[in-house]
Amino acid sequence: MVPDQDKQSLPLPPDGAPDLECAICFSQFNNVFRTPKMLQCKHTFCLECLARMNIKSSEPDAIQCPLCRGVTPLPDLGLPKLENNPTILSYLPEAMQRVYSVRFNRSRGKLQVKRPCTVSNSLDVGLPTPPCASSNQAPWRRRVQELLNKPVCRTLIKVLVSLLMVLLICVLIYLLRPQE
Ligand SMILES: [Zn+2]
Ligand SMILES: [Zn+2]
Repeated sequence: MVPDQDKQSLPLPPDGAPDLECAICFSQFNNVFRTPKMLQCKHTFCLECLARMNIKSSEPDAIQCPLCRGVTPLPDLGLPKLENNPTILSYLPEAMQRVYSVRFNRSRGKLQVKRPCTVSNSLDVGLPTPPCASSNQAPWRRRVQELLNKPVCRTLIKVLVSLLMVLLICVLIYLLRPQE
């Protein structure tokens, strides 16, 4: 094992072993959320960092490499289906050789392990910013909301409700009057 200070100063340790840390988050790769994922430009980052980048990106179907700006289109089945870096994987400890199947739920901003395991089952990686915050609200509801926000309308509604109450009370008094 290479001491930590050597790993930071040299991208490749003298024995030719690959860098086992993600260049974005400086965390060691693992077999769950930090699986080493290789882009088409052969640069490797952890799945978690790629997921975070993808969520913030305006181009959800592709990943732009932060090192060389090369664009990698995402596989149809999503981010976790990007190719693992086999060299880095082979340098991981024995117990991490089996890579967990991870699902990426972009709309909910979650990475989830498909089968329960000893590590935490899901990881929040942030939420995508919706193109328009109120676009998923029904138009009439937005109109009503806008109307209600106007002070004039609010006063008008209050007056109407008061009048209705008075009318209702009058009707009740009329109905409950002593019969002759
Ligand atoms: Zn990372
Ligand atoms: Zn690259």
